[in-house]
Amino acid sequence: MIPAAFDYVRASSLAQTIDLLREDPDGTKLLAGGHTLLPALKLRLASPSCLIDIGGIAELKAIEISETGIRIGALTTHADLLASEPLNKELPVFRQAAGLIADPQVRNRGTIGGSLANADPAADWPAVVVALQAQIEIAGPNGLRRVAARDFFVDIFSTVLEADEILAHIHIPRPKPGMRFIYRKIRHPASGFAVVGIAVGVLLQDDFVAEVSIGVTGAANHAFAGQHAADFLTGKALSRDNIDQAAKLLSETTECLSDRYASAEYRANLIRIETTRALLALSS
Ligand SMILES: Cc1cc2nc3c(=O)[nH]c(=O)nc-3n(C[C@H](O)[C@H](O)[C@H](O)COP(=O)(O)OP(=O)(O)OC[C@H]3O[C@@H](n4cnc5c(N)ncnc54)[C@H](O)[C@@H]3O)c2cc1C
Repeated sequence: MIPAAFDYVRASSLAQTIDLLREDPDGTKLLAGGHTLLPALKLRLASPSCLIDIGGIAELKAIEISETGIRIGALTTHADLLASEPLNKELPVFRQAAGLIADPQVRNRGTIGGSLANADPAADWPAVVVALQAQIEIAGPNGLRRVAARDFFVDIFSTVLEADEILAHIHIPRPKPGMRFIYRKIRHPASGFAVVGIAVGVLLQDDFVAEVSIGVTGAANHAFAGQHAADFLTGKALSRDNIDQAAKLLSETTECLSDRYASAEYRANLIRIETTRALLALSS
């Protein structure tokens, strides 16, 4: 339980972090909340030669709300997201999802950027940012680039981030008036992580679905958008029959993970049940 020796640098800005990363991208790790990285170091699952502590970079901590959208810094903690009144006035799904993450100790240290960059297939934020159609802003030696959240996650613990890049901000378009979001999850009883988590946004106009967006976590190798189910529902009434069909479609088209806690069949069934519950909640 003792990590291998490493150099430690505390970065004070995004620009400095990128300069430091450039020196040895593959041998360097960024340290945010440390709730995943520190256990990995202790277990020697990771043995970087250098650790850049980004925890003090103030420019990555703000939640900014403007006419066009919301910008969340990568170092914003789950507790900050839970507590932000302006954010939760705009999008109460942040409070709802943050409140379902682990316990106060984890929420006080863990960051949204660390969670997204780590890409644990059972993490909660990936489903939420996919459903919100967020853009992930990445900073690197060639400047900034943006990737749609639905394209950001590549595989288990794998994203489009390069070794010399840092996840800087999450951009969320301002939701259309009347669009409501919900996040539901079945928690793993030991860790609290999602066995299956479903984030859904629905805009109803004259009782028909004008827009729907679905993000799924826990079920597969990485978070993904439930596009087939969304396409099926668009333009239809949010009736019990259509909800059941959409939930079944999502469940049947997902290649689910299987592990000692939950079989693929069980996860597929949870997708169906949680999608149904989320859509029913948004139908009234
Ligand atoms: C007991 C326990 C229970 C938990 N339960 C849940 C849960 O129920 N739901 C849930 O979603 N999560 C859960 N988590 C995860 C936790 O909430 C954090 O999201 C997670 O640890 C990663 O965030 P961090 O800030 O701690 O990242 P760190 O541990 O500091 O970093 C994780 C990885 O991401 C990289 N990284 C961090 N920030 C950036 C960045 N800005 N750019 C690029 N790379 C970066 C690091 O180099 C490292 O590889 C749990 C964790 C613990 C320890």
